[in-house]
Amino acid sequence: MNCMWCESEKAKETKNSVYWELPDGTRAIEIQDTPSVKCEECGMEYQEESIINEIEDQLMLIDTKKLAKTIQYKELMEIPRLLKHNYFRF
Ligand SMILES: [Zn+2]
Repeated sequence: MNCMWCESEKAKETKNSVYWELPDGTRAIEIQDTPSVKCEECGMEYQEESIINEIEDQLMLIDTKKLAKTIQYKELMEIPRLLKHNYFRF
């Protein structure tokens, strides 16, 4: 795959811990084993947009107050979303 920054072909898929600010801005959590891309050419390590969107969506739709400070990416994605229960009901 090609690096998003320098377009080198030496970018590889990897997994990495990232710090993510919650949508309500109250705190940041560490998400471990997040699918990432690492470029051997320029040294950049980043998440692809699809992954960023998935994390953002998930954090919007789950009860983030119950989240621990550190979580695995897979665990985070498996948390049931609130949407079907009472997200739009007041
Ligand atoms: Zn690069």
